[in-house]
Amino acid sequence: MEKQRPERNETERLDREYTLGTWTRQRDFDPTQIVDTEGPRIVTADGDSILDFSSQYVCTSLGYDAERIADAVSEQIREVPYVSPGWSTEPRAKLSEKLADITPGSLKKTFYSTSGTEANEVAFKIARAYTGKHKILSRYRSYHGATAASLSASGDPRRVAQGPEIQPEVPGMIKGPDPYAYGSSLDPDESLEYIDEMLELEGGTVAGVLVEPLVGSNGVLTPPDDYLPRLQEIARDHGALLICDEVMTGFGRTGEWFASTLYDAEPDIITMAKGLTGSYQPLAATTVTEEIGEYFEDNLLNQGHTFSGHPVACAAGIAAIDTYEEEELVENASEMGSYLKSELEALADRHPSVGERRGVGLHQGIELTKSERERVPFEERSDKVSSKQTVLDEVGARALENDVYFYTSVNTIVVTPPLTITEAHVDEAIAALDDALEISDSAM
Ligand code: PLP
Repeated sequence: MEKQRPERNETERLDREYTLGTWTRQRDFDPTQIVDTEGPRIVTADGDSILDFSSQYVCTSLGYDAERIADAVSEQIREVPYVSPGWSTEPRAKLSEKLADITPGSLKKTFYSTSGTEANEVAFKIARAYTGKHKILSRYRSYHGATAASLSASGDPRRVAQGPEIQPEVPGMIKGPDPYAYGSSLDPDESLEYIDEMLELEGGTVAGVLVEPLVGSNGVLTPPDDYLPRLQEIARDHGALLICDEVMTGFGRTGEWFASTLYDAEPDIITMAKGLTGSYQPLAATTVTEEIGEYFEDNLLNQGHTFSGHPVACAAGIAAIDTYEEEELVENASEMGSYLKSELEALADRHPSVGERRGVGLHQGIELTKSERERVPFEERSDKVSSKQTVLDEVGARALENDVYFYTSVNTIVVTPPLTITEAHVDEAIAALDDALEISDSAM
């Protein structure tokens, strides 16, 4: 029996009345109040304790008990709560040094902002100034942010049909194919050749090639192991920078600090947010190579934000990185990722409606199919504003009734728990999903 939505409480009523909900027709904005958190769980006002296998859109990688961050934030608020970016603070300086340490290759200098969207917009500006070119090449199945240029770089086909605030795109953004063999007409080699040819035909006007190393919200798409280094070589051959958007994949999610490292690439620019503070504070970063940093010694870096390098957020960033290190959470993501992978594969064997398992570490997903051994997606919402339920929504809703929350997107159950989880948490999540997938099996 489907659980009825409980009566709205006072907070939910106020929120519904006075807040504009994100990415939704307001009629469909009906959020449930969260009143508490414990470890990897969120607790609703009705007392439901929900195991969060989404990490809230891949944000709360440290779960909810990172005392070290709480202490660092409250101490910093008392000492120096804010100064504008022209002044120096210890948290910003130390965080920049730490980021130079954990990022791959010769990445060294960091520019701070407050969202993944801004981190990408900053990357575009830096790539354009540094190369003297203006175009950005991204891929069709991607999400890079919500404002003009970052949204224009986002290739999610579901967005194309939306309103005038989404289209037309800003000039200079072009898109190539993804290295995505399952159900695609181009194999990964052909997709790389296509991008190579695009760069050739654009005649040396492309400043940067922007990719999520392991695509997130467009359905957890795993590239072949050699894809990223080959893409890097192609970009460099055409005088374009490789920009890796690690807003989701950074900070241990794939079992390495950065997915770029996992795939043996040395990007010219990495953008990051979410896991940078475990989302205890809003902080984003654009880290560039030493060489790019040096270019700006004598050239203007024409960019700034009031909250760039906010000391409280930077203090949270340092404490977060210390927590990943001391609790060996990057290693745990790798270990738990192997266990999760084998459990998801066993689930796929039991359920004909699971078409493919994808992903690495704690960044995995299963795509549903209507027809066994073929890629036939269940009917999808063509946009995100429809309230029509799909099979994917129903599977997610049933898992939630079983007190496990998964983020669902593009016919895929995204499985991205906090890096703090144990095997017992994986077992709990798999049991909830095992039951929920009966819905998709019977809808085939
Ligand atoms: N890039 C990627 C890969 C993302 O997944 C997201 C958000 O989910 C963004 C950029 C945008 O980040 P934000 O929502 O913090 O602006």
